Amino acid sequence: METQLHELRTRLSEINDLEAAAAVLQWDQSTYMPPGGAAARARQLATLARLSHSKATDPALGQLLEALRPYEERLPFEHDDAALIRVARRAYSKRARIPPELVAELSAHSAACYQAWTRARPAGDVATMLPLLARTLELSRRIADCFPGYAHIADPLIDLADEGMRAATVRALFAELRAELVPLVQAIAARPPVDDSCLRGHFPEEQQLAFGEMVIGRFGYDFTRGRQDKTHHPFMTKFSLGDVRITTRVKPDDLSEALFSTIHEAGHALYEQGIDPAFEATPLASGTSAGVHESQSRLWENLVGRSRPFWEHFYPQLQAAFPAQLGAVSLDQFYRAINKVQPSLIRTDADEVTYNLHVMLRFDLELALLEGSLALKDLPEAWMARYQEDLGLTPPDHRDGVLQDVHWFAGVIGGAFQGYTIGNILSAQLFATAHAACPTLDAELRRGQFATLHGWLREHVYRHGSKFTAPELIERVTGGPLQTGPYVAYLRHKYGELYGLAG
Ligand code: ZN
Repeated sequence: METQLHELRTRLSEINDLEAAAAVLQWDQSTYMPPGGAAARARQLATLARLSHSKATDPALGQLLEALRPYEERLPFEHDDAALIRVARRAYSKRARIPPELVAELSAHSAACYQAWTRARPAGDVATMLPLLARTLELSRRIADCFPGYAHIADPLIDLADEGMRAATVRALFAELRAELVPLVQAIAARPPVDDSCLRGHFPEEQQLAFGEMVIGRFGYDFTRGRQDKTHHPFMTKFSLGDVRITTRVKPDDLSEALFSTIHEAGHALYEQGIDPAFEATPLASGTSAGVHESQSRLWENLVGRSRPFWEHFYPQLQAAFPAQLGAVSLDQFYRAINKVQPSLIRTDADEVTYNLHVMLRFDLELALLEGSLALKDLPEAWMARYQEDLGLTPPDHRDGVLQDVHWFAGVIGGAFQGYTIGNILSAQLFATAHAACPTLDAELRRGQFATLHGWLREHVYRHGSKFTAPELIERVTGGPLQTGPYVAYLRHKYGELYGLAG
């Protein structure tokens, strides 16, 4: 058994190392690589993906995991070895079920589709993309069909990103949330608009980056095990538990862009940096699902970074960094500006209240496409109609309509969006749980102190890595399933106060 466990760790570590090497190449591609490196880089990444896939689906790995089953069954569920074997077996069986030809077809198609999208989006050229999307839909259905026995065809695709979640559970949660959000958005729209002009102006890049890095350092982001660089579309990436990097994007005429993207990605990074070092180079050494990951980026970005207590401490420092721009702007004006609610066409620019409506409509459209209740040719119009219905806006063209997000054009249709809203819902549920456990939390946040919050999250969420699925983790930490209540209460309280809404 000891030998088998050792062999398992060796095999998993090799898979991990190939994937980490690919992550370094991807990070470089998105930060410093000159354009001339593109063709060779694509080939190098494909080679590494092929090698790691063949190791991850090696039948010998499957046999080893079966041989370790009796050992696993003797251990308590929480035991690290049991978790390692359980999580590795799930990952193995998922990857091994998808035939290598299908993986190759999807990756070739995704690359071609992504290339076509980069040209079609600026032109709003939906006609070029529809036949490509038809192929994506067909491949997505074939992937789902590798996992027979599902209740809804999207279930296997959702499970790949948010293990343990199902279309039916997500649908029910979203319906509950939508019923609360739509009237809240309407009530806010009836109030006078907030002036956020204080966030525009000239804010030199160097000061913006310095302020953001100071803030995340105070949160507990460890710069000896990470660094921040610039990119076009900010992301977090991890090469090992000792090297968890973030990227950001600076707009010299918009103060909120770099700051909140830095805080968002640092939230993802705090999760990864907080994982038990004993899990290094195993499948346990990463966040457990898209939704739980997003709960951490959103918790730090919104529940902390856009909160009044946070800015009571940090606003004087921000004013000191930009005296000419913010010297005459009050804390109250600034706080209202960074929390302005305004229905918009672009998901990534959306405020906290309207954001989830963008996600839900994508989720519903994905499900309809996969089920076949919506024909692909009707998708662009369905998109427009739903924006009008939910946000009161009609995109003037398809560029800012159905073509706006990369997700459907660089991967499968199904499973890519629900994690954003699950993350928002969970961020408030975890924050409320932390508050109940640590009564001094708000007073500490008001003093710019984060050790209690960070420590609580590390103890209850971060250190476990992927040891528990999201539903298991949520149950353990909060004593119940994922619930919209705390999130709705948070939004109602915060925005009720901000917009002077009754009740
Ligand atoms: Zn994120």
